[in-house]
Amino acid sequence: MDFAFTPEQEELIRTLRAFARKELAPRSRHWDKTAQFPWEAWRRMGELGLFGLRAPVEYGGQETDLLTMGIVTEEIARGDFSCTYGLQLAGLAGEIVGRNGAEEVKKRWLPPMIGGEAVLAIGLTEPSVGSDAANLACRAVRERDEYVITGEKSGISLGMVAHAIMLFATTNPAAKARGVTAFLVPLDLPGVSRSPLRDLGARAIGRAVLSFDHVRIPASHRLGEEGSGFYQVMRGFDFNRVLIALACLGAAQTSLEETMAYVKERQAFGKPIVQFEGVSFPIAEAATYIDAARWLCYRALWLADHGQPHTKESAMVKWWAPRLSVETIHQCLLLHGHYGYTDELPFEQRLRDVIGLEIGDGTAEVMKLVVARELMGRESLPY
Ligand SMILES: Cc1cc2nc3c(=O)[nH]c(=O)nc-3n(C[C@H](O)[C@H](O)[C@H](O)COP(=O)(O)OP(=O)(O)OC[C@H]3O[C@@H](n4cnc5c(N)ncnc54)[C@H](O)[C@@H]3O)c2cc1C
Repeated sequence: MDFAFTPEQEELIRTLRAFARKELAPRSRHWDKTAQFPWEAWRRMGELGLFGLRAPVEYGGQETDLLTMGIVTEEIARGDFSCTYGLQLAGLAGEIVGRNGAEEVKKRWLPPMIGGEAVLAIGLTEPSVGSDAANLACRAVRERDEYVITGEKSGISLGMVAHAIMLFATTNPAAKARGVTAFLVPLDLPGVSRSPLRDLGARAIGRAVLSFDHVRIPASHRLGEEGSGFYQVMRGFDFNRVLIALACLGAAQTSLEETMAYVKERQAFGKPIVQFEGVSFPIAEAATYIDAARWLCYRALWLADHGQPHTKESAMVKWWAPRLSVETIHQCLLLHGHYGYTDELPFEQRLRDVIGLEIGDGTAEVMKLVVARELMGRESLPY
């Protein structure tokens, strides 16, 4: 058993922590206030190679291990939470498109995505289907060498800026999960329309509703075999859920560090407030939980990197870490007194940002069903 990062990983942490502090954190509030997509930061992350971590080498990717992706996500979250969505989506695209895409699709989309010039979204959720993701209404019908796509995708992160979407549609509704097929759909095609959602947080990247009205794509844009889409996305979610957890923990950890510095400075009743147990104990508790959750995340990624099952661990951290992050950031906000409640300090924004990922990519309730199923078998499920 070895809990230490390698010297290369330590170096990566130092580099990205400096990048997040200098280039992301000072602009994060502006992006949130203006709901402006951070293109400049996106390109910088592209230059640093952060969008190619899971993509095949021949298209400009790096095929790094998942542990490295975890480190990157945690560090970027310290600077700006919205930017971690780019890492998640590029990671999923690297896997889903990289493993299942036709040559022309990979050539067209992976290099610009890796460079931070093209954004790929993921479209699973629909207006009437979220947690029950096998029951999609969006249809893809084969017509000679094309597919015709009709339906609506809702709650899609980066939906207003994305250039293409990894879209999951049913090619055989009766087959439920086994009828779900993945496609790469460019979003400038006739029949595509989009409208923004007004979200509580992560406003820099935003979410949208995307409609597909008889959108025609070449059959070569199918990702993998018909009926394999559900399994592709669930395989991706198994590691992406850990990345989400680490993003939430990165935001919590940086909040805690800022709070530790503040409570040593701030005086009340003639002494620094850190000397009151009512102040130091919540900090000690939060640090304990964050450490435990963080190592469970890295264990899940280690299992994944070693080809071992990690569905249970990834569902565990996906329900726990976002909740823990919300509670920790809330506590940090309170420990800053009335200043914490203003938008001069980053806590209110971080709180709004992390709440979204208590829901996105699977709610806590659904994650607990997964943990229970992994522990006790399918007889524990209500369906
Ligand atoms: C910030 C954010 C980003 C997102 N980004 C994307 C994206 O990029 N692409 C995409 O496709 N989707 C995205 N989503 C959508 C997200 O994946 C869904 O919202 C999520 O899967 C839940 O689905 P739902 O909203 O339809 O809720 P529902 O499935 O309708 O659930 C409503 C409530 O019922 C509970 N519930 C449902 N079933 C059960 C059950 N069996 N047992 C107990 N409780 C249950 C849920 O936990 C929840 O509390 C995003 C959502 C958010 C908030």
